[in-house]
Amino acid sequence: MLKEILSGWKNYLDKTEVTEAVAKERAAICAACPSLRNGRLLAFIKDDLTEVEGAYCSKCGCPLSAKVRSNDICPENKW
Ligand code: SF4
Repeated sequence: MLKEILSGWKNYLDKTEVTEAVAKERAAICAACPSLRNGRLLAFIKDDLTEVEGAYCSKCGCPLSAKVRSNDICPENKW
């Protein structure tokens, strides 16, 4: 999972592997999910995808700005 999340941060910076269009669709799903939490430690990370800015998934603990751009999967199979 760490590898996938690191790839997500890379994609956050590069905007390559997972397209921003896909990331945006995922972010919308996360935004409506009860497992989304706002993380104080993540608050400084700005994101064009404001739906997931500063947020993490309480199911896997992953920062969502990276997760939605990674090759990881949603732990609830929502995307
Ligand atoms: S990754 Fe899945 S479980 Fe986690 S917040 Fe997003 S939709 Fe919900």
